[in-house]
This record gives sequence, C-alpha cells and structure tokens, in this order.
Amino acid sequence: MALAIEILPMLSDNYAYLLHEPEAGVTAVVDPAEAAPVTARLAQQQRQLDLILTTHHHGDHTAGNLALKAATGCRVIGAAADRARIPGLDQAVQEGERVMVGKAAGEVMATPGHTSGHISYWFSEAKALFCADTLFSLGCGRLLEGDARQMWASLQKLLALPDDALVYCGHEYTESNARFALTVDPDNPALQARAEEVHRLRAAGRPTIPTTLGLERRTNPFLRPDDPGIRRTLGMTGASDVEVFAEIRQRKDRF
Ligand code: ZN
Ligand code: FE
Repeated sequence: MALAIEILPMLSDNYAYLLHEPEAGVTAVVDPAEAAPVTARLAQQQRQLDLILTTHHHGDHTAGNLALKAATGCRVIGAAADRARIPGLDQAVQEGERVMVGKAAGEVMATPGHTSGHISYWFSEAKALFCADTLFSLGCGRLLEGDARQMWASLQKLLALPDDALVYCGHEYTESNARFALTVDPDNPALQARAEEVHRLRAAGRPTIPTTLGLERRTNPFLRPDDPGIRRTLGMTGASDVEVFAEIRQRKDRF
C-alpha cells in the first residue's frame, strides 16, 4: 500500500517522519521529539494526526507525544517492554506484531542494544524501515542499555531485509560517522564515494536520509565486521564477528 513519507527535522539533529496512507487517509508520525513542527506541517496539509509510532523511550524521540496527543487525540504505539517509559502509550506492541497506518502494514522488530526496549518498524510494501537509534547511516547507536552481542544480533536481523530497503534512522549523524568509518575501512571505494556524496549533501543543507540497506551493507563498518580489510586494519583477522563489531563500537565511543 502506498505510503508517503516526509522527513521532519527536530531539535538539532533528530529526524521524525510523517507517514500518510492516502487510500484510508491515515497519518502517523514516527518519533516526534517536538510537537510544533508536526502540527505546523499537518495544518499546511490540512490533515489530522492519527498515530504516533515510538521506537524507544528517549526524550529526543518521545518529548512531543503528550502535546500531540492532547492537541489531536492521536494514539501512541510503542514497545510493550517500554510500557512504563513511553509518554502517552496506548498500544503496546512486540516483535512480530503488525501496526497498521491505514492499509499499510508495518512489522514490529525488536532491536535492543541502544535501549533494552528499542523496536524498529518495517513497512515491506513501501520498503521503509524506521530503525531510529539502532542503525544509522554509516553508524549504529551507542550501547546505553545493551551489550555488543545484543546490538549485533539486532543489526543482523535488519540485515535480513532486502538491499533496496529504505533506511530512515533517528539522527543526521552521517557526516561524522563517515569520518570515523574511514578510519577503520580506509580502502573501501564505496565508502569513499559515499563520504563524498554525504559531504556534498550536507554542504547543500540536504538530509543524507533515507539511505538503503544495500548501500549500508557496502559502506557501514558496523555491518561489516566480517570484512578482511577492516579486520586487517584492526589487527583482528582471527576474531569473531561480534568481537570485531564490539571493537568498532568501542573505537567509535572514543573517536
Ligand atoms: Zn536514543
Ligand atoms: Fe536519539
């Protein structure tokens, strides 16, 4: 089912996403950190907000929930595991459940690691993945409530999606992520080309999102712990994938 997706910049570097399913006339927003940009845009479009889809409890993804609910009467959907931490939660969902934005179905994927209750939403017909702070373009979320093993398992789950999956992540971190990525994967021509493209986009004030899973597979070091070049750079040729992933995550924390 067709799903129109619009990027709404929030705070300094967050992205919320406005979803509209035209047939049923249903509108949703993913991770509104602020209410005002959402209500302003909806007023322009003369649309009502029906749903909030929350990926995780952090304020930069949920701080707009209560104001939007009060202003519009929308319903808030989020992880059952985060029932106590998501403002205004109405519908608790978990791994494998479907959420409907009108006639467009999104599959709930449990993707813990950044937070213990982090979920992602995969709309297979629109090929749209809303993964917030699990997978970034050229990066991944910090391990605030989980460990490397858990995050690597979550990323592997996302890696099972098709290459043309559109990745809508929670922050515009791509340019600094590119600088780090080049330190662990300096000889990757696809990464070099992406870094240049990202620089051009940001210099023009444009978002680097959505990226695609295929592009991330080729360029994002956090998805490439099996790559021989990265392993050589890290001096970890004999290590397991999760060990290499953990080392890349630690280096990024110190970068
Ligand atoms: Zn977060
Ligand atoms: Fe965040």
